[in-house]
Parts: sequence; structure tokens; C-alpha cells
Amino acid sequence: IPERDPAAGASPVMAQFFEAKARQPDALVFFRMGDFYELFFEDAQKASAALGITLTARGEHGGQPIPMCGVPVHAAEAYLAKLIRAGFKVAVCEQMESPAEAKKRGSKSVVRRDLVRVVTPGTLTEEGLLDARGANRLAAISVRAGAAAVAAVELSTGEVECLAVQVPGLASALAALSPSEILVPDRLFADEAVSAALKAAGGFVQPLPQALAEPAASEARLKRLYGVDTLDGFGQLSGAEVSALGLIAAHLETTQAGKAPALSAPRRAGEADVMVIDPATRSSLEIEKATSGSRDGSLLAAIDRTITAPGARLLAARLARPLLDPAAIDARLDAIAWFIEHRAQRQRLRELLRSMGDMARALSRLALGRGGPRDLGALRDGLGMAEQITALFASMRDPLVQPPEEIAAALRALNPALHADLADFRAMLKDGLGGELPALARDGGFVAEGVRPELDQARALRDDSRRVILGLEARLAADSGVALKIRHNAVLGYFVETTAKAAEPLMAPPLNATFIHRQTLANQVRFTTVELAELDAKIAQAGERALAIEAETFEAWREAAIRVAHGIQAAAEAAARLDVAAGLAEWAEDAGASRPTVDRSTAFEAEAARHPVVEAAVKRAGEAFTPNDCRLDGVGAAGARLSIVTGPNMAGKSTFLRQNALLAVLAQAGCYVPAKRLRIGVVDKLFSRVGAGDDLARGRSTFMAEMVETAAILTQATPRSLVILDEIGRGTATYDGLAIAWACAEALHEVNRCRALFATHYHELATLEGRLAYVANLSLRAKEWNGDLIFLHEAGPGPADRSYGVQVAKLAGVPPAVVSRARDVLERLEREAGAPAHLEDLPLFAAVAEPEAKYGPSVVEEALKALDPDGMSPREAMDALYKLKGLL
Ligand code: ADP
Repeated sequence: IPERDPAAGASPVMAQFFEAKARQPDALVFFRMGDFYELFFEDAQKASAALGITLTARGEHGGQPIPMCGVPVHAAEAYLAKLIRAGFKVAVCEQMESPAEAKKRGSKSVVRRDLVRVVTPGTLTEEGLLDARGANRLAAISVRAGAAAVAAVELSTGEVECLAVQVPGLASALAALSPSEILVPDRLFADEAVSAALKAAGGFVQPLPQALAEPAASEARLKRLYGVDTLDGFGQLSGAEVSALGLIAAHLETTQAGKAPALSAPRRAGEADVMVIDPATRSSLEIEKATSGSRDGSLLAAIDRTITAPGARLLAARLARPLLDPAAIDARLDAIAWFIEHRAQRQRLRELLRSMGDMARALSRLALGRGGPRDLGALRDGLGMAEQITALFASMRDPLVQPPEEIAAALRALNPALHADLADFRAMLKDGLGGELPALARDGGFVAEGVRPELDQARALRDDSRRVILGLEARLAADSGVALKIRHNAVLGYFVETTAKAAEPLMAPPLNATFIHRQTLANQVRFTTVELAELDAKIAQAGERALAIEAETFEAWREAAIRVAHGIQAAAEAAARLDVAAGLAEWAEDAGASRPTVDRSTAFEAEAARHPVVEAAVKRAGEAFTPNDCRLDGVGAAGARLSIVTGPNMAGKSTFLRQNALLAVLAQAGCYVPAKRLRIGVVDKLFSRVGAGDDLARGRSTFMAEMVETAAILTQATPRSLVILDEIGRGTATYDGLAIAWACAEALHEVNRCRALFATHYHELATLEGRLAYVANLSLRAKEWNGDLIFLHEAGPGPADRSYGVQVAKLAGVPPAVVSRARDVLERLEREAGAPAHLEDLPLFAAVAEPEAKYGPSVVEEALKALDPDGMSPREAMDALYKLKGLL
């Protein structure tokens, strides 16, 4: 693009391009030219490289050819998806009128064009661009007066959420929402804590001008977005919340070119409502995604038995944000229990859900002007299902088996008898929408007969004329004695066609008075007649009129859908809730899961628990998974709250640790748990730190990362938290690592006082059991049998006797000579006097060998104890005071 005024001397069409580009300078402009979207200049260069399509040139600008590439409109979605994934934003500049309309306006046939949308990762709504079972959120963060907020919208369904947090909680809050795009006021963007949180959360970050986050502007924009005069209806929003929501409103205004999405009121939560799970913990526990990045192998995939896409999304959202309120958790568990008990209803419900479309996404597309007749069809069918679900539950007359509130509330939202407006809307579509529904309204053919008399007339005229044409063909053939056919194409409309040879008489008198020559091809000659031309015009007109009436009808229905948007959203969510509860009941039965007890204690008592993902893998390999107990008692209770877990490699330590963390996630998300019994006091924060042991190649930076995460745990864990630490300190030299592991264990026990599982290969840590009040040893057992090692995967009290490293090496296929040499070396080391086999022998720990040495009375305390104030003169007391001070 030339430097000064890039648009100077541009042709009228290119002038339109420059105007669009100036409005969206950092987006690629998809410029509509007939059946193509074309890209110019640098956009063309970038897009052709990213898409692997040919870069050519079109015309000239400033004496230079204009680089250009293009994608066909009908295939644009796939190209769009590719560009968005590659990190581009795309501004779509559409033709706003047809060339005919432009001509009518007298504007030398340059059609009007306008930006209709900017496509960014967080604002996708197309079925083809979205994962049906996954969320696609646009988030914004803001900080005001020290308090932070994360707001998020799922544009494809209209769901809005708001999380009020403290600045250090930003990363966890973002991770819980896993947005694909995050809006940040540019001033905040420079903040170190914020940028660290953004990095941890991942997703496309979009800085916006600070001015857009100012309270007054945000509030005004938010009111406009929701079409309300006051925000009071949303509860007391904090400054940070208003500002974060305002950023979203601003971004939607630009990207949606002013079209108002159908949004639900913001659903709000604070740090006191949901379990804090930081990004590292989330990924190490593989809650929603496996380490590989795919959904397969995650906890979510293991338990997901939902039928509908909205159900799958709701389950993912619940798992991402476990609750803290036992009553709310119990409400969810009640629903599952009910569906386990009422198997027949559950099965029938699940069958009905199979034909339930994605109402929320269909509605959102309609509201944004991107929907078509099929989306209306999804609403019609979804509301029809709502009626059937209502009938299914109404057929259960026994008042003793009334479903619990979670289900009852969903049924109220679905019941057409309680929502006259929805029932009317559905009735209108039921009668009105007909036949095979096209994707686009302009293709027509979706309005049923009897809905609009003018439409029926136009169609009758069109169809009658078609019939007349059939008659005409026979008549013309008979009258002329020539074998001819009447055909149709887009260019000529209806025409008479004969072979070249048969055409001769038609071109000679007297027949040439009737047959008007139109076109000669290699083997065919085409004619028209006055009568045929008239019929053709009639059909074309009637067809156009029919399409216009259908478009009008579609628009009216679309508006009607927007009027009942809230009811539809509530019904869609209700169906998703039922799907989730019934699906979890299904899983609970399949997996032999049980109902957990969640209370406000600090207990953790798991009996015969399993890891759902590892269990599935072990079973696939034809083996059995060994269930394990785990008991961590909270403050003051008898027994341990910190378990030191030892055992050889491959014994199942990591599996055991993770399984217990997952139990907490499942229980507090309101799911059944794969255990015979689980009682758990609500966990406010869950931390999982998995050692760098398997990643030594990455060296120091990995160790550093490990320490950063460990630091976070030590500063943030509370007595309500649950911490799992796997092989901490492994990424550094032995004594270093042992020292760090030891100190961390002490701190967790003494300072954080949280429930914790601490897996380590430093067997020295086992001696903590006797030193600290609430520490117990636990080990995963293995047995040597005929020189081979057998893993029992059984967790039991007491430390592991040895680490069996040599045996594991043998199992792993290390050559026999090396294994046997290792055995020799080990024996020698164990015999040799200098090797510190016991912790007490390490100089590092000599000082803390006796707990009193650290936690016992200090010198000052001893001196104080020795004083006898009653036997002192004032003078002596004064001296003693100075002496004490001197001891400090
Ligand atoms: P560690 O952390 O002690 O090295 P892992 O937890 O990684 O061991 O477990 C190693 C393997 O042992 C797992 O991949 C799984 O196949 C198997 N395993 C672990 N726990 C169990 C169990 N409870 N029952 C059956 N197999 C298990």
C-alpha cells in the first residue's frame, strides 16, 4: 500500500475497499465481489500464504498491479476457520445490494458494500466453526480499586458470566472459563501480574484502549447492549465487573457491526462460590483436556454420557468450576440419585433428547442475523421436545415420586403450559415451517402452504405456468411437426430446443413467425415463442414474489424468536440440566460410582476409590484396577492430614494422588464418585504440583517452574485446601531436592495446615511421621517374586521398604548386564559406611533432628521462665529487662 493517502486515485470499488480497511486496519478484509471474497494488498499476501492459495493480481493501483487472492463464498467458512486458527482477525465486507438495485439507484452499477462483521476467535457462531460439545468464550478482564473481575460471553448461546476475584485469582478464574479470546485494557496489559495470568490462561489476547474500560462509558454501553435503562436488575455489580462487561459490549459492538445478540443476564460468582483451581493444576489433573490437548483421556471425556451438545457444554462448565456450597452440591446430587432410581424415565428422557437440537446456538445465530430456516427448525423441534418431556414427567402421577427441585425447576422451564408465549411461538412454527428446510432464507421453500395467501397465490401462478409450459411443449411439437423440447436454464430462462437438423423448418416461413431464434450451439438450436416468453416472465415474477414473501415471513419469525429469547434460553438450559443429570446417572451406573457426602468439615475419607481415566486404560489392557482408600483428617482430628506417599516407580503413586484430587473435583461439581464411599469437607482450593522428574531434558527452567508453582501453593493453600505434590524437588541435586521437599512438607503441615498427599522418592521423608503430629506414611506396595517385581498398586500404611529402582530398570528392558552391574553397585553403596542411609546422618538436618530444636522454647523464653518477679527489687527488674532485650 503506497504510503501517503493509500486510497488516492483509487477506482470506485477500491475506494470502498480502502474505507473498509481503514475501519479495521488490523483485520484481513474479506471483500465481497460477486461469488467471491477477495483480499487485496498485504491482506492477500498474508492470506494466500496462510491458506495455501494462489496470489494473483487484479487491476492496478498507483501504477502498480494490486496483489489479490480470493475464496469462493460458498466455501468461505472453511477458509475463515483456518485463518482464525492461524491467529488472524477477519473483517467481512458484504455487498449490501444487488447490481440491479445499484443500477436503479443510478450509481453506475457500483454496489454498496459495508462491513457486516469482524470474525475473531471469541465471536464465532457458525456451526461449522464451533465444536458442538465445547464452549467458545470471549472473556474480558478488568481491575478497579484493587478488585478484579473476569467477564465472559458465549456468543453462540448468549450466556454471560462474571467472576469477581482478587488480582492473584485472575489466572484461576480465566482458566476456569478457558476463553478463546481475552480482552484486556491496554494499561492492564502492561501489568506484570496480569500478563502472567494471561500467559497461564492461554487464548488469543486482544488489547483494547483503556478508555473503553472506564466506568461511565462501560455502563452506558452495557445498558445499550441489554437494552435496559438501569443495571440494577443484575444485582450490585462492582466497578471491575461493569468495566469487564463493558469491554465485551464494546467488542461486540464493533465485531457484530451493531447487531444485538440475545444475551442472558450475567450469572455472577465470587471466589467464595467456586473451587479455585489454577491453570497448572487444571492441566496436570487433565480435568477437561488431556495433556495431549485433546478431550480424549480427560476426566470430562471419561464421565460424559450426555446426549445433547448443550448438555455436554454444561457438564464441562460444571467440572471446570466445582462448587463450595454443600446445599447447592446436594441439589445436583439429588437429581442424579432420582434418575438412578427412575431408570425408565431416564431412558425415555434420553431417547427424547436425541432429537433435541441446539436451541441456544440456533437462537443466537438468528439474533445476530446469521440464522436460517434450519435454525427456526431447531427451535420448533426443541420446543416440541420440551412438550414431550413435560408429558413424560406428567405421566408419573404418584405424588411420592415427585422429582427433586433441580429436576422440578427444569421441568417448569420446559412446560409449555407455563409459557404461553413459547407455546404460541412453537405453534406458529409448527404450522408455518414446512418441508426440507434450506440453510438460507433466500433459497425459499420453507414456508408451508396456508400461512400466507399471497405466497400460495404466487406459488400457484408459478406452478400453473409450469403446467401450461408442459402442455405448450406438446402443442408446439404437434403444430410444427418437429421433435422439440422445452428446457430451462439460468441465462435464457425457458426456451424451445431442437437438434440442428430438425431446426431448419422452424427458421423458415411460415414457422419462423412463431419460433424466434435465440441461440445456436454445436448440435442444438434454441428458440422462444411469444407465449413461452410471457409464461417465462410470469414464472420468474411469481418466483421472485414468492421468495420475497418468504424472506419477509422469515424476518417476522426471526423477530418473534428474539421476543421469546429468554424463554427459549431457559428451556434450552433446562434441557441441558436434565441431560447432565441423566447422563451422570448413566455414568454412575456404568462405573459403579456412589453418592459423595460433602459437608463443611475438613474430612477426607475415601474408601475403595478409583481413577476413572487410568481405570479405563487398565481395563482396556485386560487388567483389573486396584481400588484404594485414602484418609486425610482435618485440623485436630485423630490421624493424619499430610500423607507421605512412597513406593517404587510405577507402583501407582501419581495415580493415587490424582485420583484423590479428582474425587474432590467430581464431588464438588455435583457428580457421583468412583468410590465405594466418599466423605469430603469442601475443598476451597485444589493444588496439584507434579514433579519435573520426567522432564529432565528441560533442565533448570523446569525446576524453576516447579518452584514457582510450589511457592504459589505455600502462599495460597488454606486449612480447607487440598494439595497433591508429586516428586517435588526432583529436578535438582539430591540433597537440594531432599532439603526442599522436607521444608515444603513441614510448611504444609505447620503453616498451611491443609490436607495434602506428598509423593516422594526421598524415603528419608518417612521419618516425618514421628516428628510432626499429623503426618502419616503411606506406600504403594510392590513384591519381589522370583527376582521379578510385582506391583500390587495397593496403598497401605507405613513407608515403602525400598525403591526397587534396579528391578524397575529390569522391567523396562535395560540390558541384563547393566542390571546386574547396578545390583552390585547398589549392594556396595548400601554396605559402605560413608553413605548416609539415614536422615540423621545428613549434616543439613542435624539441626532439626529434635523437633524441640526448632519448635521448642527459645533462649529468651528460657530466660523469662527463670525469672521470679515476686522476689525482685525494682532495680533488679530493670536489669532483667535490659538483659532480656540484650538476648534478642
Ligand atoms: P508412579 O507414580 O508410582 O510411578 P503411576 O501412578 O504412574 O506410578 O502408575 C503406573 C502405572 O501403574 C499406571 O500407568 C497404571 O497402568 C498402573 N496403575 C496405577 N495405579 C493402579 C491401580 N490402582 N490399579 C491398577 N493399575 C494401576
